Amino acid sequence: MGARKNYGNDGSTPNEHCPECDDSFLAEHDDRFHCGKCSYTRWK
Ligand SMILES: [Zn+2]
Repeated sequence: MGARKNYGNDGSTPNEHCPECDDSFLAEHDDRFHCGKCSYTRWK
């Protein structure tokens, strides 16, 4: 309990690592994934 925070609704896919930072995770939004560290964005 408590390990999962704001990672989507279906819980089927853990967040991907950012391809730019590699050590940072991408935050999932409605239509895209976004890295808060380098601002990398990948559209779904
Ligand atoms: Zn990044």
